[in-house]
Amino acid sequence: MTAIALLQGDITKIEADAIVNAANSSLLGGGGVDGAIHRAGGSKILEECRMIRARQGKCATGEAVITTAGNLPAKYVIHTVGPVFQKENQVKLEALLANCYHNSLSLAVENQCKTIAFPNISTGIYRFPKLAAAQVAIATVQAFITKSTTLEKVIFVCFDEENHTIYHQLLKE
Ligand code: ADP
Repeated sequence: MTAIALLQGDITKIEADAIVNAANSSLLGGGGVDGAIHRAGGSKILEECRMIRARQGKCATGEAVITTAGNLPAKYVIHTVGPVFQKENQVKLEALLANCYHNSLSLAVENQCKTIAFPNISTGIYRFPKLAAAQVAIATVQAFITKSTTLEKVIFVCFDEENHTIYHQLLKE
């Protein structure tokens, strides 16, 4: 059985097989958790992202790609592109956010990862409402792990107190 864990802190410090980056479609770095991962991980991650860019072009919303993790304690970084929130398209955007979690989990399994850590994708610069995003994240992970047995642990890493409180409440239910 796969365990779900909840932490508050900085995902760049997590020793999981894979940590997930809330990237943007350029794959060439940005602010928030993306900036923190590239700063802490060093230039190797960006070099690999550039190679992926050269091969496939931009990364579409909901899709994910994988690189090694440079100087980070993780083995891999899975870069996924969350949707930018727009109230009028919430249902469609929730489906794209679910794709981020699903595709990241699939890539982790394909690369023999046992542990994976997620940030709260799209809830920063991309302004997704935190409760809705957490519901999508938890439901998608739970659905995935009931089907896949190779993952041992999925860790939700909340940077801010508000997300941590929301996840704590939802995971208790
Ligand atoms: P997005 O563009 O997908 O909204 P952000 O990086 O702006 O991405 O925010 C996504 C989430 O990552 C936010 O909840 C933000 O608080 C969180 N975050 C920012 N820095 C870190 C970090 N070092 N570790 C984990 N989470 C982080």
